[in-house]
Amino acid sequence: MIYLDYSATTKASKIVLDKYLHDNQKYYANPNSTHELGVLAWKQLKESSFRINKSFKLENHEVIYTSGATEANNLAIKGLALAKIDQGKHLIVGAFEHSSVISCFNYLANDGFTVDVVKHDASGLVDLANLESLITKETTLISIAMVNSETGIVQDLVKLSNLIRKYPYITFHSDLTQAVGKIELDYSLVDMFSFSGHKIYGLKGVGALVKKREIKLHKIIHGGKAFNEERAGTPAVPLIISLANALEIAMQDLKTNQVKVKEIHDYLLNELKALQDVVINSNSFSLPHIVNVSFLKMKSTDLHQEYSRQGIYLSQGTACASGKDSSSIIQRLTNSLDLATTSLRISLSHKTTKAEIDKLISTYKEIIK
Ligand code: PMP
Repeated sequence: MIYLDYSATTKASKIVLDKYLHDNQKYYANPNSTHELGVLAWKQLKESSFRINKSFKLENHEVIYTSGATEANNLAIKGLALAKIDQGKHLIVGAFEHSSVISCFNYLANDGFTVDVVKHDASGLVDLANLESLITKETTLISIAMVNSETGIVQDLVKLSNLIRKYPYITFHSDLTQAVGKIELDYSLVDMFSFSGHKIYGLKGVGALVKKREIKLHKIIHGGKAFNEERAGTPAVPLIISLANALEIAMQDLKTNQVKVKEIHDYLLNELKALQDVVINSNSFSLPHIVNVSFLKMKSTDLHQEYSRQGIYLSQGTACASGKDSSSIIQRLTNSLDLATTSLRISLSHKTTKAEIDKLISTYKEIIK
C-alpha cells in the first residue's frame, strides 16, 4: 500500500493517539460541570488554548473548538457575516477556496448578501489590485486561504494583510487547514483562521477557529452554556488536548519535515518530468507537499481508479470534490479542460520514501503500456 494522499488526511501519530487514550480515561468529566472533576477537565481546555496560542506564537487569541475545519469555516464566515449585518452585506472570497468555504458564501449569497470573488493571476496568486477595487464601505469579511488544497499554491500573506489592514472595519479570515504544520506563517496577520487536527497527524473530529477576542460572531450552533460562548455542546476535552498535542509536534518538527518533503518533492518532480505527456500544474509558488499533475494520456478518473486497484492512493482533485470528471480549480488555473480532466493530486509527507515514488512512476508506465 502506498499512501500519497496526505492532504486529504493523515494517519494519527502514535504519540498523539496514545496520549489521547490516556486523556480519554482521565478527563472524561463534562467541563461544564462545576464539580471537581468537571473543573479539572475545564482546566485542560484552558491549558490547550494556552498551548495552541503558544504554538502559533499568538498572545491571547480565542480558540473555538469545533469538529474540524468545515465547522470552523462555517462559524467564521456565517458567524461574522450575520454578526456584522448592520454594518454591511458585502463579502469577498478567494477564487480557489475549499468547498467548505465556497458553500458558506453561496449560502449567504442566496440569503441576500453580495459576494464578490477576487481575481487571480496566471500563477494562481490573488490579484491585489482587483481585491482592493472590490472593497466597499459595506464589506465586512474577506476570506482567502493561504494554501490551495489542490495545487499547493501559497498566497503572499504579508501583502494581503497589509492591504486588508488599510480597511480596519473588514475582518480577514483565512482557511489555514492546508498551511498549518507545512509552512511558517505570521498568524497574527489574519483576524481569524481555521485548521483541523486530522491534517497534522492528529485525530479526526476536532479542529478550531482561532480568532482575535474582540471579533463578535453570530452563533451557528445554539445550545447551553459551554466553554466557547459561540459554540454550544459538551467540549470533547480529550480530542481538544490531542489537537494541542498534534499542533505542538507539527510546529516543533516543521523545519526538519520541510527539508524531507522538499527532497522527496524534487525527486518526484524529476521523475515526472522524465515522462512524456505529463504537465505539472503546481508551480513555483506551490509548497512541496502538494504536486498537481496532469497525465494527458488518461482521464484522471480512470488513472485514479487504476492506481487505487494497485494499492496506490492519491487524489483526483480534493477528497471533498472527488468523483467529479474534472477539477474546476485546475480548469480555472490553466484555462484547459484537458488538463482539468487528467489531473491528479499527489500529496507528500516527511514519511514518503523514494521507493514509493519509484513505484508510483513504474506503475504508471505499466498502466499506460
Ligand atoms: N479546508 C481545507 C483547505 C481542506 O483541505 C479541508 C479538508 N479537505 C477542509 C477545509 C475541511 O476540513 P475538515 O475535514 O476538518 O472538516
